[in-house]
Amino acid sequence: MTDLDGVRAALDRIDAALLDLLAERSAVVEEVAALKSRDQELLLRDLERERDLLSKVGRDAQRRGLNAFHVVRIFRDVVEASVRQQESRLTRDANTGAEPPLLRVAYQGTDGAYSHLAGRKFFGDRKEEPIFVGYRSFRQAVEAVERDECDYAILPLENSVAGSINETYTLLGSSKLHVVGEEVWQVEHCLLGLAPVPLSRIRRVYSHPQALMQCSEFLDGLPGVTAESFIDTAASVQKVKELGSEENAAIASAEAGELHGLVVLRRDIANQRNNQTRFVVVHRKRFQFDPRIPCRTSLLLVTDHKEGALERCLSELARAQINMTKLESRSMTNTPWEYQFYVDIEGNVDEPRVARALEGIGHNARYLRVLGCYPRKTDAALDVPRDVDLSPPQAPPAPVETSVPVAAESKVAYPLAARRAGGAERTQVKVGDVLFGEGFVVVAGPCAVENERQVFETARVVREGGGRVLRGGVFKPRTSPYAFQGLGWEGLDILWRAGQEYHLPIVTEVMAPEDVARVAERADMLQVGARNMQNFSLLKEVGQSKRPVLLKRGMMSSIEELLLAAEYVLAAGNRHVVLCERGIRTFETSTRNTLDLGAVQVLKSKTHLPVIVDPSHALGITAYVAPMARAALAAGADGVIVEVHPRPAEALCDGPQALTPDLFAAMMGDLKRMGAALGIPVR
Ligand code: PEP
Ligand code: MN
Repeated sequence: MTDLDGVRAALDRIDAALLDLLAERSAVVEEVAALKSRDQELLLRDLERERDLLSKVGRDAQRRGLNAFHVVRIFRDVVEASVRQQESRLTRDANTGAEPPLLRVAYQGTDGAYSHLAGRKFFGDRKEEPIFVGYRSFRQAVEAVERDECDYAILPLENSVAGSINETYTLLGSSKLHVVGEEVWQVEHCLLGLAPVPLSRIRRVYSHPQALMQCSEFLDGLPGVTAESFIDTAASVQKVKELGSEENAAIASAEAGELHGLVVLRRDIANQRNNQTRFVVVHRKRFQFDPRIPCRTSLLLVTDHKEGALERCLSELARAQINMTKLESRSMTNTPWEYQFYVDIEGNVDEPRVARALEGIGHNARYLRVLGCYPRKTDAALDVPRDVDLSPPQAPPAPVETSVPVAAESKVAYPLAARRAGGAERTQVKVGDVLFGEGFVVVAGPCAVENERQVFETARVVREGGGRVLRGGVFKPRTSPYAFQGLGWEGLDILWRAGQEYHLPIVTEVMAPEDVARVAERADMLQVGARNMQNFSLLKEVGQSKRPVLLKRGMMSSIEELLLAAEYVLAAGNRHVVLCERGIRTFETSTRNTLDLGAVQVLKSKTHLPVIVDPSHALGITAYVAPMARAALAAGADGVIVEVHPRPAEALCDGPQALTPDLFAAMMGDLKRMGAALGIPVR
């Protein structure tokens, strides 16, 4: 036995012990579920408790020298499994005897098709693995359940990139089956081949036309390759297997490749990332769901061809304070230009307020049918929390009153940016799941994205220190054309991956109007740099984007000019702008620029937009950054943006002003203590 074998045997023993513990944990979860099933007063979920549990796990992990972020990620899955287990238990208890002992699940396609994978996920917590039966069409899958050949069918309903799947809607409308569940599947298209050959060997790529279309940019980059449409993604995997030549490849999921013995040649090749499909599960009978399980109800509605008919129906929902999550209109078969509506609402049909609203809708509609009521799976608010605080706990807050008078101005040149007289309201700008304008937000990261290691190391430091947004320049506005200009698109990819890995939204500078749309595909926030504050074509372009904008004050611009620049963005349609004071040019030469901290209060009195401070570029010297970040907090700013580098001496840009990981952690500790004293949460 080699040394390596010995160590591996030790790892196997540890993994077996981990599994034993998971089984033990699951048995305890079952007891918890049984208690909750008996006592309706007990909460099913307590997101605050979940957040505390994860934050404690993270801190304990840190103390043991583990990567807290990765450990928390594992525990999120553990908590999610526990939630799912408890929901299934409650559903089983509410429907005793309704569940067929041997599950047969119909889907369209062959082994490894996305419907099959989503079905395996949905039924994954059953003791016995269901039998999956593939059919040629959605209709045949539905008919198999109607004829009792299968117990359930799983059908794709909508895709976040391609939109609604009309055939499924039509089938739901015409069949008597009930929707009893939903599932989401993260679609990750991969290029699969017979053997790990270089991409230049590939001549033909098979897949479903939708998948070929979704990967068009990748395919365009493979010269001499023909794309061949095939009935579905998984069948194209089988086809490549049958053809037996290494020159063929298929586009499908990695799982389909694994099922049929193909290898992944390239992962994640779709033009658009974050491609999700929502599936529904249908059954002959409806199920009862415990009122503590957050449910969705799907309705089919036909209204009279009269003015205000739909509005009257929908106002019943508003009156009952029911949130509508989807409204889809489809023309009626055989009656062109008349429409039926598919409506999804949050709520359980057994709740009195939902029942009342449905009764009201019934009075106003020509036809109303409940297609189903089922636990919600696509609701991000129900996810196990991600915004877990991994930094050490702080003393309780002692609130201090800080209010700013509204500037008295009769006619302002920037009506959209101006704070409305008498109105205390301030705009909150949402970036990923972070809110600017609520508490004090810390944005941190390297001046420039230099390489993968540097960015990932920094992202970890930012995440573990309690920073909430990751910054990093990929297009750098450098004074000299010979200085490092940034990694461009490749850098954006690195920054995006680091953001995904450490669950941090990303902000990066965009310099050219023609780059805005492409940067916006990846960046959660678009930065307009000081040197571009009055680049009006750029301002108009980011004004058309749906991404929030971080607008930095020009180093030779007045506060009024900054507000007018913001007005350009707002006037073009984009109402989510965060302003940034980053220092201006004065006669003073001992710092890089002069930080105009007074601008924070002036801006707060003139505009409803959040204001943050960049002490790194304002002072230009590491030692001054943390004290001035504290001053920004005291001055009433909504946050700071600071530069951090794992090894400032090696930085390709702005090394002399970068915080080291230790200095960043120390700054965060100070800010949190100060924030606690001022009653301002620092995140
Ligand atoms: C930056 O934040 O990367 C930057 C270049 O700053 P500024 O535009 O404020 O100089
Ligand atoms: Mn910089």
